[in-house]
Amino acid sequence: MSAGRTLPAGVADADFGRALAAFGDAVGAAHVLSDPAQLLPYGRIMLPVPDEEHQPSAVVMAASVEEIQKVLAVARRWRIPLWTVSTGRNFGYGSAAPATAGQVVLDLKRMNRILEVDAELGTALIEPGVTYQQLHSYLSERDIALWLDFPAPGPLVSPIGNTLERGGGLTPYGDHFQHACGLEVVLADGSVLRTGLGGIADTTSWQVNRYGYGPYVDGLFTQSNFGIVTKMGLWLMPAPPAHRTIMAQWWDDADLGGAVDAIRPLRLAGTIPNFGILANATLILTSMVKRSDVFDGIGAVPVARANEFAKARGLPPWLYLFSVYGTAEQIEVDTRIVRRALESQGATLVLDVDDPMQRNELSLQAFTLFNWNSGGGLCWFSPVAPNRGADVVRQTQLARRIMDDYGVDFMTGMTINGRDILNVMPLVFNRADAVETARVRACFDDLLTQFAKHGYGFYRTGIGFMDRVAQLHGQAGHEFALRLKRAVDPLGILAPGKSGIRI
Ligand SMILES: Cc1cc2nc3c(=O)[nH]c(=O)nc-3n(C[C@H](O)[C@H](O)[C@H](O)COP(=O)(O)OP(=O)(O)OC[C@H]3O[C@@H](n4cnc5c(N)ncnc54)[C@H](O)[C@@H]3O)c2cc1C
Repeated sequence: MSAGRTLPAGVADADFGRALAAFGDAVGAAHVLSDPAQLLPYGRIMLPVPDEEHQPSAVVMAASVEEIQKVLAVARRWRIPLWTVSTGRNFGYGSAAPATAGQVVLDLKRMNRILEVDAELGTALIEPGVTYQQLHSYLSERDIALWLDFPAPGPLVSPIGNTLERGGGLTPYGDHFQHACGLEVVLADGSVLRTGLGGIADTTSWQVNRYGYGPYVDGLFTQSNFGIVTKMGLWLMPAPPAHRTIMAQWWDDADLGGAVDAIRPLRLAGTIPNFGILANATLILTSMVKRSDVFDGIGAVPVARANEFAKARGLPPWLYLFSVYGTAEQIEVDTRIVRRALESQGATLVLDVDDPMQRNELSLQAFTLFNWNSGGGLCWFSPVAPNRGADVVRQTQLARRIMDDYGVDFMTGMTINGRDILNVMPLVFNRADAVETARVRACFDDLLTQFAKHGYGFYRTGIGFMDRVAQLHGQAGHEFALRLKRAVDPLGILAPGKSGIRI
């Protein structure tokens, strides 16, 4: 810190001033922010860790690859770390803030061109600042019958930011990285790499073939800090003639294992083609009421209390929202198959339920999560489980016990794949209350430790926990990432600390 300003580690105040001026030459002075008031939105982290550990020193908003190359030259000259964001709305994982204090946020929201949409093949090529809303409007204004898959904060966020985090949505294209095809990446030395078939001069097939020739490297640029992604191809789903969203309900808290075992064969066979979401009553209640309406006692909301409250409103302890897509005939057949399979495992089914995310309609409905508790704290705990009832029950009981010990409400919205489940649990808390925030942090640390001890890894984590989570995933993998980092970014200027990678 200098005169109230956070500086990049090891950079003198005067040099930082010179670097800011040079950034201004690169992108235009109006696109360099260093005033504390301007930096405020970039430091709102929501997580249960101190703000000052993640304050940026400045923000630079580049508008083209050429400007990024100039910014990189400045960063190399003064050893300024750059934390790249696309739209910077990584809510509950750190938003736009860097993993370590003093980095300059390279905000790419000005690079927001939709470069190409191929309506026949269902592909798009976009820049980082493009939001799902923008792409959605582009398609609907032109009557292009392609669907987008988006995460819950869809209107506000970017396909590139979300995909680089390996985020997801709820349609059959819900695994976003699996539907990304071709990246353009600016490396730390300013060179430009196009992955897959993007390296062929006048390429015809960059957005249609994911692998190209030789090593497949796209995954290296996800959850990492090896480059700055400036273009991405993505696949869009042909709009189905019809679809039906179905809610399967299980009325006993102990039904969870049976529910998972009933869903798995339907997912593996593709009868249920989308992830859907398996949620507990407490998570569902956040969309309807406040915490104080449900419980005003001490400690976490007891599961039995949440279940009883939900049941009184016609909702079960566990519900699975999923969809079937296709022609009307296919939908009738698929409905019969899933009905038979799920009802035989104790579910009751409600047909034709409304869920915008499962039918290409953007909404901000999920933000009701913040109404549960005042204070705006949110930290996602996202372990992976094998798609087996016994494992999911074991995970859930473990999480509940730990959260209960710390007085943290247990909620989960599981994304169900064929073979694995992302058991995504939001820890929602009052960040204005220092004692509560410290409790949530201790809880999160304990969750990481206990889950790793039980053999579970994590799909994603927020700044503030990246070193720890990297360490839990094994030394050899971490050292390999460091070797790559030394090779492609020897000065370590790109996002030090992302996924625990720093040299
Ligand atoms: C209520 C709620 C519900 C949510 N639901 C979902 C959900 O359903 N699914 C889901 O996946 N997430 C969900 N989120 C989390 C999050 O908001 C989204 O994942 C969001 O898409 C991430 O923000 P972004 O797109 O602005 O990415 P950014 O913040 O721009 O990027 C995320 C990270 O990716 C890296 N990065 C970004 N751009 C680049 C680039 N061009 N080059 C190199 N690295 C880059 C950086 O490390 C950056 O920190 C939810 C959050 C909330 C609050």
